[in-house]
Amino acid sequence: MDKETQTLSVMHGPGAILLISCYELGHRPIGLTRPLAALEAAGFSPDTIDIAVETLDAEKVKRAQFIGISVPMHTALRLGVHLLQRIRELNPDVTICMYGLYAELNAAYLLSHGVDFCISGDVPTQLLALVESLTQEKRIHQVTNNNGSLPALDKYACFEDNGEMRTVGYTETTHGCKHLCTHCPIPPVYNGKFFPVQRETVLDEIQKQVAEGATHITFGDPDFLNGPMHGLRILRAMHATFPQLTFDFTTKIEHILKHSKHFPEFAELGCRFIISAVESLSGTVLTILEKHHTRADVETAIDTVHQAGIALRPTWVPFTPWTTLEDYLEILEFVDTHRLVYHVDPVQYAVRLLIPPSSYLLNRPETKALNLTLDQSAFSYIWEHPDPIMDKLQKTVNTLVENDARTDVDALDTFYRIWELAVDMHGSRHTPLDRNRKQTHLPAPRITEAWFC
Ligand code: SF4
Repeated sequence: MDKETQTLSVMHGPGAILLISCYELGHRPIGLTRPLAALEAAGFSPDTIDIAVETLDAEKVKRAQFIGISVPMHTALRLGVHLLQRIRELNPDVTICMYGLYAELNAAYLLSHGVDFCISGDVPTQLLALVESLTQEKRIHQVTNNNGSLPALDKYACFEDNGEMRTVGYTETTHGCKHLCTHCPIPPVYNGKFFPVQRETVLDEIQKQVAEGATHITFGDPDFLNGPMHGLRILRAMHATFPQLTFDFTTKIEHILKHSKHFPEFAELGCRFIISAVESLSGTVLTILEKHHTRADVETAIDTVHQAGIALRPTWVPFTPWTTLEDYLEILEFVDTHRLVYHVDPVQYAVRLLIPPSSYLLNRPETKALNLTLDQSAFSYIWEHPDPIMDKLQKTVNTLVENDARTDVDALDTFYRIWELAVDMHGSRHTPLDRNRKQTHLPAPRITEAWFC
């Protein structure tokens, strides 16, 4: 601690600010790294805790004047709210700010349940502005030792492909999204806008993580191809400096079709897989979710990506109030036919549509007709399927997937068990499984953490 810092304020003291991440899909949380960098650049010395890989350090909580809790997704919010009570017990007077997408969507509830501030959007800038305004009020005091380093990258999920393992770094080249898919939590916050992050910032984050041992980078933008040339320039610069580095990104089916000519170059630059939110193959469901793609588009996108030598990992929302059992079986058949079993995390077959407060889905006539009520403490609207068999199937698949994950059952076996379950519930109306196809499913690159929204 140098003299200059000691004369600033209590908020500048090491550990006076504590940033906590609850959950970010198994990678190093950008909800910590970017706010941390912004605060450090402004002369603050925050501590951090990532409760996905660390325990809640009571000493860090007790010495904090300000605690920021990152809640970019539903799972993180539930964990964050659970933490609130413990934090208040340890440090009743601390100022608490929740930040990220789900903080804004649930601000009304959070502000009346012990949270002092909720922010989202350009979090590092807003968080810094908030801390600086609070700094005016909290002047000089003594400081204690800081221990704010982030957990090592090898504490997080890694890249895996047929025995090849890589340490994963994480960054985002944009935030927000220019699309308005109704089920997505991003449009209510960004309203169809996205913002590029400065190229130097992204490259600097990559360079630092490579120095820490990263050999694969996940670009976690909501959609990497919202500004395709911005992303491509970053990839070219990254590849020029680190030619051995591999990467993955997320983009929508529509963008794969529109920017298909770039995929051979993505492969040359080190792209190993792409995640795309297919969600459903049903025309009805895709229309309600306003995805702007069809089953035929998905097939073309798979061909485009796979022909370039990149794996496509589709994600699904197989349980919605409008999805029929036939739709569910169609997804399973599609995955089997296109040899995608290892391209889909089994948890995907149990995903149930989440409708958070302010969701654009609430504007759809199909949703209005359901007369849903909000369960504020669950941070979502409650819905039941008109066909009770679908809710039963969802619960059963969920239990099956959890049990299989716990006992390390191979994804292929889990897939066939889910399929048998769905066929059984369907009765005799469906084609029996062709178990010979089992041999045709080849392993696919993945991150070793199942995907939870
Ligand atoms: S689902 Fe993807 S493309 Fe659609 S609004 Fe969300 S981030 Fe954008």
